[in-house]
Amino acid sequence: MQQNTELFEQPPCPICGSDSYRPFLQVADRFRPEERFRLVRCTSCGLIYLNPRPTEQAILKYYQAADYDPHSEGGHGLSGKLYRLARFLNTLLKLHWLSSFSGPRRALDVGCGTGYFLQMLRKKGWEVAGVEPVPVAQRLAQQKGLNVVSRLDEAQGPFGVITLWHVLEHLHNPADTLRQLDRLLAADGWLLLSMPNPLCLDAQYFGPSWVAYDAPRHLVHYRPQDVEHLARQTGFTIFRLAMLPFDPVYNVFLSLQQSTSLSLSQIISGPSMGIRSLLDGIRHPKLASSPVYFFRKTKN
Ligand SMILES: [Zn+2]
Repeated sequence: MQQNTELFEQPPCPICGSDSYRPFLQVADRFRPEERFRLVRCTSCGLIYLNPRPTEQAILKYYQAADYDPHSEGGHGLSGKLYRLARFLNTLLKLHWLSSFSGPRRALDVGCGTGYFLQMLRKKGWEVAGVEPVPVAQRLAQQKGLNVVSRLDEAQGPFGVITLWHVLEHLHNPADTLRQLDRLLAADGWLLLSMPNPLCLDAQYFGPSWVAYDAPRHLVHYRPQDVEHLARQTGFTIFRLAMLPFDPVYNVFLSLQQSTSLSLSQIISGPSMGIRSLLDGIRHPKLASSPVYFFRKTKN
């Protein structure tokens, strides 16, 4: 585990601010397995988070792995193909949700990566903008003619819809970001967030090899009750819960691929467990591998 104090910090709980925690799990960086990180559980609110964690400056180098799919459109191997298939199918579902919203057809995608979702949304007639701090991904998005800025404070609201697809878990200050988004969102707008769920079956099954622990890029692991807590703190109400059904397939494949500690029988039963995880999520979105939270501003 890294101890360099210039590159690493020991944050209080990112939701309740408590300094009190218990060790939860040791996880390796899937791109540099020699680097290991500690997840802790807040003894006050139960949140699981990375501690110590890289500072905002220091974390950028951990996004530079050539095969980090969200910033490279996916690689040429089977994992890249699966990533693109899951992305395509999930995007159809996201577009379906957005088509049902009334209000201004103006959308901001925060952490837009290479701009795939925005490109699809633009084809449906929406005015779109993105925020992407990682230069290589931002350049790919801009090459598609998309309006993508580096920082959230450069975005010009109001937006009818703001989306954070698998982004909140990467943020050092989630509550500050949500308050900023509140100011950018139209009064009747929707804020959609998805993130991995540490309560899902694939997380329990793979333990430290669960790909969505993704240390040190994922700083916080939000259970549905943590998201509710954060929504209340920042002036939002959760109106609806759905799920991204194609994420468990990708998660299970990558977890199996990167794991060195699973038994043969665990490897063989991995795919059927993935299907059970998917069915769990369909029946109970709070147990889904990737729940989607539909936030609206709380009316006073
Ligand atoms: Zn806490």
